[in-house]
Amino acid sequence: MTIACEFSREGHPQNGAGQAAYERTAPAFWRASDNRLLELARSGGTLSETLDSVCRFVEEVSGECRCGIYLIDWRGPTVRTGAAPGLAASFNAAICGLPVRSDSGPCARAAYLMTQVIAADLDSDPLWQASEFRSLALAHGLRSCWCTPICSPAGSVLGIFAILQRSPARPTPFQQNLIAGVAHVASIVIENARLAVTIRRSEAALAETERLSCTGSFVWRLSTDEVIGSGQLHRILELDESQPVTLGLIRSRIHPVDHPSVCEALERARSDGNDIEHEHRLLMPDQSIKYVRMTAHAARDPDGHLEYIGAIQDVTERRLSEAALGKARSELAHVARVVSLGPLSASIVHEVNQPLSGIVINASTCLRMLTADPPNVAGALETVRRALRDARLASEIIARLHALFTKKEPKIGSVELNEVTRELLTLLQSDLQRHRVSLRAELAEDLPPVIGDRVQLQQVILNLLLNALEAMNSIDDRSRRLVVRTEQEDGDRVRLSVSDSGVGLDFQIAERLFEPFYTTKRSGMGIGLFVSRFIIEHHRGWLRAAPNDGPGAMFSFSIPSLGREAMSSCCRAPRGP
Ligand code: ADP
Repeated sequence: MTIACEFSREGHPQNGAGQAAYERTAPAFWRASDNRLLELARSGGTLSETLDSVCRFVEEVSGECRCGIYLIDWRGPTVRTGAAPGLAASFNAAICGLPVRSDSGPCARAAYLMTQVIAADLDSDPLWQASEFRSLALAHGLRSCWCTPICSPAGSVLGIFAILQRSPARPTPFQQNLIAGVAHVASIVIENARLAVTIRRSEAALAETERLSCTGSFVWRLSTDEVIGSGQLHRILELDESQPVTLGLIRSRIHPVDHPSVCEALERARSDGNDIEHEHRLLMPDQSIKYVRMTAHAARDPDGHLEYIGAIQDVTERRLSEAALGKARSELAHVARVVSLGPLSASIVHEVNQPLSGIVINASTCLRMLTADPPNVAGALETVRRALRDARLASEIIARLHALFTKKEPKIGSVELNEVTRELLTLLQSDLQRHRVSLRAELAEDLPPVIGDRVQLQQVILNLLLNALEAMNSIDDRSRRLVVRTEQEDGDRVRLSVSDSGVGLDFQIAERLFEPFYTTKRSGMGIGLFVSRFIIEHHRGWLRAAPNDGPGAMFSFSIPSLGREAMSSCCRAPRGP
């Protein structure tokens, strides 16, 4: 590089003729030197490479001097070597780690005071007599040291630019100008390097967060259909990271069954610019299936064009575990139903026995009538008819029990809660009598049907009824009363409550009863209420327990009925047991 050869190595005009030349050519020199410094700043090298070049440049144009750019680590705060290619390694090593204080040498002092420090003669200047830096510099043959803070635009000290010379000296105006240029360029270079580190760190953090949350991000420019996808998006779509993500590639991964709905969502977004929320499946090249959730928000790019910034989250594990949970709950519900069989068995025996003994009695009467002389055909016919009626009744009871205790997939339809309740109360009649329980059924007339699974709802009501009976088992000093009520509620809902005069419950533990395996019974399993609440919540309802004003407790649930609103939105099958 050639810069202004009229200048001496000390950086000032050599004689009177030179003075004129200096005044004539100085502006051009400053421009050239500033340009060169800016070129170095833009060179794209590493921080230390660029700072090294800056130091060499100054040493080249500024005469017999050595330069160092030292960074300040404000965590110490201490001085660190950034670049000092012309200074001895032993000198730099001793500078590195110096505390930022006013008495640890000119560099640390300049950082500490945030001002330029000119040590024109380290040997004689009384300020440095006690400083370790003085002996270090003198030992390396350096007598003067000029240190200038390199400040960020926000005003914090990023580093120090130091010029050291073998003889006592003060900076010339030329050198002061050069120092100012270097401090400015070095601040840009150091600040950029810091920003680059921050950006790299946040990119790494983002990539790690995306990996942990199985979420890939993307930007979709609608005007060109260009898609920019993160590394994690590539991994979710199982694409090579060097391969650019395109809308076509994204589409090719969508499960054929979900293809129309995704395309519709994207087309809708294209026309209305609303947020995208969509869950669908991907069919991977090895035929495995992934469940993904896409969320995107519309924004404008700097040119005002519409683009979507979004995320695609792989929710496969969650969906699979939900399915497993649903299956486990279904097993649990089945167990709960089978467990209910124990307390019910007396009723079942009674219910089935009644028509069976009716059949036996009618059949023997019929036999007697037919073998009489003369045979009583009309009487026999009547007894056969009665036997047939009893047989049908027995078969109906068995079918009901079968529905209740066999494991079935949820079957959604219109359910009459009053009818289900009546059936169960009939089934429990002998239990009620045996336990001396008086029953009051207050079933609302014209109760609208609900949408749901009949067997599941039967199971909930049965569980509430059996619990109520058990809660009254130990009560002997007052009457055992069971009140079953159905009523229509505001907002197209139906409520069913079972109230007893049993042991009751504390408000504080009312919620604990619904926890799985919470039981106070010696042979209880503690799953009935847990499963019941699960079922009711999947019927978009609630199930609660509360102590009665008097003795006992009341359990009630409320679910949407087949009203106007329910008709339109309730046809979603519960996924539960
Ligand atoms: P389990 O009947 O096997 O104990 P549940 O989940 O049906 O399981 O009930 C959990 C617990 O809730 C019972 O053990 C009992 O302590 C309490 N509980 C249920 N129903 C009543 C009721 N009607 N009155 C008082 N406590 C009740």
